[in-house]
Amino acid sequence: MTEDYREMWTHLGLDLDAHDALLGVLGGAYQDIFLSQKNRPEGMKYFDFVMSEVHGLRIKELLDEKKAGRKIVGSYCVFVPEEIVLAAGATLVGLCSGADFATPEVEKLLPRNTCALIKSSFGFKLGKVCPYLESADMIVGENTCDGKKKAYESLGHLVKNLYVMDLPQVKSDQGRALLKSEYQRFRTAMEALTGAAVTSESLKQAIQTVNAKRAAIHRLSILRKADPAPISGLDALLANQVFFYDNPARFTDSVNQICDELEKRIAEKKGVFPAGTPRILVSGCPQAVPNWKLPFIVETSGAVIVGEESCVGERGARNLTDASGETVDEMMDAIVDRYYQVDCAIFTPNPQRLEHIQEMVATYRADGVIHYGLQFCQPYLMESFPIEKALEEKKIPTLRIETDYSMEDVGQLKTRIEAFIEQLR
Ligand code: SF4
Ligand code: SF4
Repeated sequence: MTEDYREMWTHLGLDLDAHDALLGVLGGAYQDIFLSQKNRPEGMKYFDFVMSEVHGLRIKELLDEKKAGRKIVGSYCVFVPEEIVLAAGATLVGLCSGADFATPEVEKLLPRNTCALIKSSFGFKLGKVCPYLESADMIVGENTCDGKKKAYESLGHLVKNLYVMDLPQVKSDQGRALLKSEYQRFRTAMEALTGAAVTSESLKQAIQTVNAKRAAIHRLSILRKADPAPISGLDALLANQVFFYDNPARFTDSVNQICDELEKRIAEKKGVFPAGTPRILVSGCPQAVPNWKLPFIVETSGAVIVGEESCVGERGARNLTDASGETVDEMMDAIVDRYYQVDCAIFTPNPQRLEHIQEMVATYRADGVIHYGLQFCQPYLMESFPIEKALEEKKIPTLRIETDYSMEDVGQLKTRIEAFIEQLR
């Protein structure tokens, strides 16, 4: 990264020393984990470039958009509808929260037994290391799990323009009505932020843009059915992570180009690992950038990950929005219908998630499931027990793991994961 960026980071109020340290760790991890893989698709070079410029060129693009009068909106959850943000003339970026930072400072504000994702979102703010967070004109929080909903009360004192979205916890008529009224309220807030009305034209265009992005990532997912797997789980996860902050149209083109390449690989029976390599579905908590711990362990232990039942994965990206409506109201209804299908563990009961896991096991021909739970994440850890039981009853081997972002348990996890993979052979 060039010196020009330092001026940009200073302007954003980042702590340059802390930021250098973060980039050093990120760059080193990327080098060791991604660039050491064999047989990567050529198209992944685009993502290597994106990652090398994650705090550089992409931030410059966002700041250029701001100079031109466009607003930037940051979010932490797949329930924040990008369609509405785009239709109001703003840009949505996901705020990653995938690494520990400034933990001692965070633990002065949050209990120690808070999940790593929430702690990370505070750490990036308190440590002044996230240019996305500092570029955002509005941060959207959501009342999902208890940890998040209470943490936003404290985060509201740290960031300038926090908007909190209320979300249903039960899928019922009332739950759907709440989601609908919250999306209407969000539309009004977005219009107030940008000064531009959401019109039927802008909303239709926005739905089509986001649908194209989701269709591309879904196309990539489906290609992972092949044996040998044409792309590693690590690279597929990376594409799912970049989904949240790249320019949507450029992301869509890049993923479609990789898919063209993967289709050729499949026709030639070429893969990243030999045919017959044990295949694993990962299910559970989101794995945000740069949280690559689990797939790295799995794919250096003799297995390949063929799908992610996760918000950074198929839970977040599947299901397109019906773009056939003609009025804003019709399209807003279609948006509610699409997001209402997200089977996050905050819902009770949540049978759709188990159905989706089983469907993914069959579709991607997985030999087993690893349930990934972040320590102190009550919704997913609670669900992991009945899910393990139900899958085992269907003779789908399942391993429940509970971890955080630290590297202290890597050895122990590797031993358990190797034993699990052995069982799948
Ligand atoms: S797991 Fe639930 S709360 Fe977390 S990002 Fe996904 S939908 Fe949002
Ligand atoms: S990982 Fe679990 S506890 Fe953490 S924010 Fe997501 S749902 Fe909440």
